[in-house]
Amino acid sequence: MNIGVVGLGFVGLSVSCVFANKGLNIHGVDIDEQKMSIINQKKSPFFEPEINEILDKVLNKSLNVNSNLEKCVKESEIIFVCVGTPSNSDGSSNLNYLKNTCKDISKFLNKIQDGKFRIIVIKSTIPPQTIETEIMPLMKQNTSKQIGVDFDICSNPEFLKEGSAINDMLNPHLVVIGTNNEKTKYKINNFYTKLYSDSVNIMNTTIVNAELIKYTNNSFLATKISFINNIANICNKIPGADVEIIAEAIGMDPRIGKMFLKAGPGYGGSCFPKDVVGFLNFIKLQGFSMPILESTHKINQNQPLEIIKMIKSKLSDIDGKNISILGLSFKKNTDDIREAVSIKIVNKLLEQNAKIKVNDPMAIPNFKQIFNEKIDYCDSIEDCLKDSDCCVILTEWDNFKNIQPEMFVKLMKNPIIIDARRIFDVNKFKDIADFTALGYGK
Ligand code: NAD
Repeated sequence: MNIGVVGLGFVGLSVSCVFANKGLNIHGVDIDEQKMSIINQKKSPFFEPEINEILDKVLNKSLNVNSNLEKCVKESEIIFVCVGTPSNSDGSSNLNYLKNTCKDISKFLNKIQDGKFRIIVIKSTIPPQTIETEIMPLMKQNTSKQIGVDFDICSNPEFLKEGSAINDMLNPHLVVIGTNNEKTKYKINNFYTKLYSDSVNIMNTTIVNAELIKYTNNSFLATKISFINNIANICNKIPGADVEIIAEAIGMDPRIGKMFLKAGPGYGGSCFPKDVVGFLNFIKLQGFSMPILESTHKINQNQPLEIIKMIKSKLSDIDGKNISILGLSFKKNTDDIREAVSIKIVNKLLEQNAKIKVNDPMAIPNFKQIFNEKIDYCDSIEDCLKDSDCCVILTEWDNFKNIQPEMFVKLMKNPIIIDARRIFDVNKFKDIADFTALGYGK
């Protein structure tokens, strides 16, 4: 079966690789020539476990990548649209990439006379009602073909996570198909049941419900994180309190569940921050409000400042101090620094004239593009810690977890450690260094 994938970022390339590895013929399209040249050298433009191995296997066989959208539309029965939907400055969702893509697709559909029913599947995260109130009318304007008769457009939000994208694509917990058309429903259901066998959970629903499911899903997860971060900040002030113990206990309650209860410096990445503000913006436009989600956002914006407060409480004056940052990516196993807390914290520390050294297994090249010569980039943890006045752990990379307390003491000028990710066993550090862990009241 010939499938098109438009937009070869984290989602589109992961989707393309997994589909191609399952034997489908994938025509991947992107407008970023540099990105495609990297992919055509069998390399992923971003770090993602397992993706290079699959690319090496499928590229120029079941996966072909270029900028020819017209050919992609002509040859494909199903076209997955995975272009970015970043935030505008007012928090609303920037739908320009999606609109441009759909407009072009409708123009190309116009030229095709083979009588085949094509389905455009929107994987990009978009505000509720976007497909029916904006995309469908736009496509109607640009093609003489009839929606629902000659072609159709449906919603199929993506739930993969950076750092485990391939595994998530191979084993989705749920596939949501939003369509109001029986033919589309049949064809997309058929596509997914063949791809994953009958064991996959499929939810068929309307387009607007599918759009709402994705925003609600991310908003709920973000709220869980802000909730536990709020508890962590309270624990900071209560001697003997420990957010890790609280989270472990409440996570055992099956009504709550243990995931997304890890206190930290706040959520970042390309999804939660933008989807929370995007949803809030949508809610406001409808004339409603959602105070709980407003608080989620506010707590998250404040959380990096809690880390700065912890640093200040240890160093009193930050001016001229050497501060080591371990971890730059917004979470482990990715080089993505979009909306990463590390950016906010480094900016705040630079404002106060701190000297910053950073280490991260994957994200240094991306970080260099933002901070250039303003900070020192260290290839090793040892270099990063040497002669430091304070070390802050901002990402939960596995290799940081193996650092022994003695190493901090040996290398740092002042062994002050702030574990903002709770990766260390507090007891191991108790009498060795000046160790502070987020959500651990001393
Ligand atoms: P991305 O920024 O990494 O990739 C988007 C790609 O689309 C880029 O390569 C860009 O060049 C390309 N593009 C833009 N306009 C184009 C056009 N007209 N034709 C062809 N290509 C075009 O974004 P992403 O992280 O892959 O996210 C894509 C969508 O999926 C977003 O809506 C996002 O919210 C959603 N999503 C992301 C994740 C994630 O973990 N990153 C997870 C689930 C859903």
